[in-house]
Amino acid sequence: QTSSKPPPLPSPLRFSKFFQANMRILVTGGAGFIGSHLVDKLMENEKNEVIVVDNFFTGSKDNLRKWIDHPRFELIRHDVTQPLLVEVDQIYHLACPASPIFYKYNPVKTIKTNVIGTLNMLGLAKRVGARILLTSTSEVYGDPLTHPQPESYWGNVNPIGVRSCYDEGKRVAETLMFDYHRQHGIEIRIARIFNTYGPRMNIDDGRVVSNFIAQALRAEPLTVQKPGSQTRSFCYVSDMVNGLIRLMEGQNTGPINIGNPGEFTMLELAETVKELINPKVEVNMVENTPDDPRQRKPDITKAKEVLGWEPQVTLRDGLPLMVEDFRSRLGISKA
Ligand code: NAD
Ligand code: UDP
Ligand code: UDP
Repeated sequence: QTSSKPPPLPSPLRFSKFFQANMRILVTGGAGFIGSHLVDKLMENEKNEVIVVDNFFTGSKDNLRKWIDHPRFELIRHDVTQPLLVEVDQIYHLACPASPIFYKYNPVKTIKTNVIGTLNMLGLAKRVGARILLTSTSEVYGDPLTHPQPESYWGNVNPIGVRSCYDEGKRVAETLMFDYHRQHGIEIRIARIFNTYGPRMNIDDGRVVSNFIAQALRAEPLTVQKPGSQTRSFCYVSDMVNGLIRLMEGQNTGPINIGNPGEFTMLELAETVKELINPKVEVNMVENTPDDPRQRKPDITKAKEVLGWEPQVTLRDGLPLMVEDFRSRLGISKA
């Protein structure tokens, strides 16, 4: 007696390898700042087909304008907290608001995005045999007691604070990634991203680089939050995208820090923006928000050794590259 069950279909991964078809890549959060630059880079390779899934909370179709109607590109309005059925070979999972103003706006939604969203993408990866990369964050180190931060540092995070929806959310997302890897054999990659800047940052999202550039161009005082001695290390977006692609294509699960180790106090950043963009603006000290990490700098030894990656663009070279984009979006013409 013959079975009525049809023979199994080849998984998309084996299918694309066998027929040397295009690599089908899903980018969640691809309409956002880093995601849209990642899509630009992936689309340069004619063997890639890119599907973007985004709910447009902080991202915008505008960031992907040049790819709309391209035959190798598809844009889907979808919230990752809902199940998603697509057939892909790789998943870059970025969907999550990254700026404190936006992730604190609806904290319950932020943690759902991190937990249920990542669970859904892992379920998808499991069903189709895709490799999945999570963009985690340096915020998993909290207010770090070790400096600079290596991947082996477990962090100093307030589990009930106003930033927890984001940093604890990402910590659970990392846990889910490793549990799917150990339990179901899913191929995972985890990037711990440090502060990233560049064109297409949201102008009014409250992040320090976008604030200072917009303020300098509008000839408004630069708002340095007290005490101003807190530090961050800023990575230009093209370096970030190259690091993410190397991680995805490499053999190491991570977590791997991707960031620029050049460390600046917020007062130094303000002075640099002033000097490069508008020497006439003032610097104002203003109140800070709770739980602001006092220092942050990636130890990128692992990225150098495992990925052969290190950033190429210094802060002084990167900041001027944002000016034209910010001018045109702010409607400020060159003086
Ligand atoms: P972004 O806010 O510009 O992009 C996030 C994108 O995700 C947006 O397009 C948004 O609309 C989309 N999104 C949010 N919630 C969603 C949901 N539930 N369903 C579908 N789409 C959703 O932020 P970004 O700076 O491009 O950050 C991208 C990723 O990198 C995030 O995961 C963030 O946590 C991580 N990261 C960024 C930085 C940074 O400095 N920019 C630092 C550390 C980590
Ligand atoms: N999922 C999805 N797309 C898929 C496969 C699964 O969105 O192609 C979701 C599914 O709805 C579930 C989650 O991913 O909520 C985890 O899936 P898994 O198969 O690991 O768990 P289960 O469905 O058995 O709870
Ligand atoms: N910050 C500042 N002025 C601003 C916005 C932020 O001095 O207008 C400071 C903030 O206190 C923090 C640092 O800049 O110490 C980085 O803040 P951001 O929100 O950009 O990123 P994150 O705190 O997530 O690293």
